[in-house]
Amino acid sequence: MKILVMKFGGTSVDSQEHREIAARKVIRAKEDGFAPVVVVSAIGRRGAPYATDTLIEFLRGIDPSVPPNPRELDLMMACGEIISTVVMAHTLKTMGYDAVALTGGQAGIITDNEYGNARVLQIHPQAIRHHLESGRIVVVAGFQGVAEDKLGFHPDITTLGRGGSDTTASALGAALNAVAVEIYTDVDGVKTADPDIIPDARTLPVISYEEVAEIAHQGAKVLHPRAAEIAMLHNIPLWVKSTFTDETGTLVTSAEGAEGVDLPEVTGVTHITGKIVYLVFHIGEVPEKPEIELQLYRLMARADVNLYLNSYSHDTLSFAVPRDRWGLVQKLLDGLVMPVGAPPQRLVIFRVGEKPSREYQLQKQMLDALGNTLSVQEIAVDVLENCTMVSLIAAKLSRRPGVMALFLRTLYDAGIQVLQTADSEMSLSCLVNESDVEKAVRVLHERFVADRAYAQ
Ligand code: ADP
Ligand code: MG
Repeated sequence: MKILVMKFGGTSVDSQEHREIAARKVIRAKEDGFAPVVVVSAIGRRGAPYATDTLIEFLRGIDPSVPPNPRELDLMMACGEIISTVVMAHTLKTMGYDAVALTGGQAGIITDNEYGNARVLQIHPQAIRHHLESGRIVVVAGFQGVAEDKLGFHPDITTLGRGGSDTTASALGAALNAVAVEIYTDVDGVKTADPDIIPDARTLPVISYEEVAEIAHQGAKVLHPRAAEIAMLHNIPLWVKSTFTDETGTLVTSAEGAEGVDLPEVTGVTHITGKIVYLVFHIGEVPEKPEIELQLYRLMARADVNLYLNSYSHDTLSFAVPRDRWGLVQKLLDGLVMPVGAPPQRLVIFRVGEKPSREYQLQKQMLDALGNTLSVQEIAVDVLENCTMVSLIAAKLSRRPGVMALFLRTLYDAGIQVLQTADSEMSLSCLVNESDVEKAVRVLHERFVADRAYAQ
């Protein structure tokens, strides 16, 4: 059985007309001899009646001062995909094809119980296989799974976080040993920049798993990075294609698989949509600096905060966090008291922002009142709000001489102030003011991708 996983995103299923276009792609695959497993997202984006954001707002709107229980919030959010699954399966039936709708749990997707951002632990694909063997098209609800209930009752529904349907598709592809996973969306494939800013950005014919994961991590939401990682681990060909055209799309494959194909020198330009907040920790030249940094990273990991632009100097540590996590991060950091050394030699206390906050002052007073014998060191944290990040992506970018100079000159020539830079094996990123982001994407795309000045 040649199993083909086909995932359709929100805009691909947002009207009956679109759903029928999607269904025809599925039917064509079936007629071509594949056994399609269809994964669907919720119907439409913000504002649409069954879109994920609408469901969240419905619950939050009851009393904005009372945050919903994460378990119940997951139960609520999962409804969007369940509705979409039933509608898609029924659409296929009306077009003359037998289809069955499965929730994530019914499809055998088992996750941990990190509500709102669960990880897929394993998949029991027996039910899917059974239906496929009976000749049915299987439609699975994306973005969800089930986790063992903490009390051992019937399993709880969990959700996989933003872009989670891409992960569902990849994970199912791996568990079912699919011939390929196809991600259908409203653009022709992975492009050299966000088409909202660069309308004539080129569609990349082929890209490596690592690069697409980097592109996704640096802000392009066209594919979830976890989906690329899972496909890479199982070496499953991944395609990004348009629901609305018959273009070939982008093949995501291993770097070896892509050899011989003309990979562009610079793959593309990405940016983070929405603001990020840049933090500089003035730790000082103390021997415990690495230990303090480690504890900070652990804290951010436990809170599931994505970090960007990590950089170090002899006395500082800096990184950026997404704007929508800033409230949480600020709460965690401001007035935080951290013992350092084993056994503790000193205490450090973090002070966020220019003026000491009430929270900080209370903590400080408490420390003083305790009259403890350990010395207390303050770590000031500078905060830069309303900025965002623009990145250049290319394989082995960091090993190319001169690229940083050209990157900076391009931005300076355009009058864009660069607040910070960082690089990794595959990317070069800079922090700019929010108001400069579109211009930065445009000039970088023009210089590095359209002109291919660097390639020459
Ligand atoms: P879906 O609902 O199908 O999952 P998404 O909105 O998650 O769709 O992802 C597709 C969108 O990603 C496109 O409409 C496009 O605006 C955006 N995008 C951002 N950067 C890129 C890029 N480099 N290539 C392609 N699309 C991109
Ligand atoms: Mg998506």
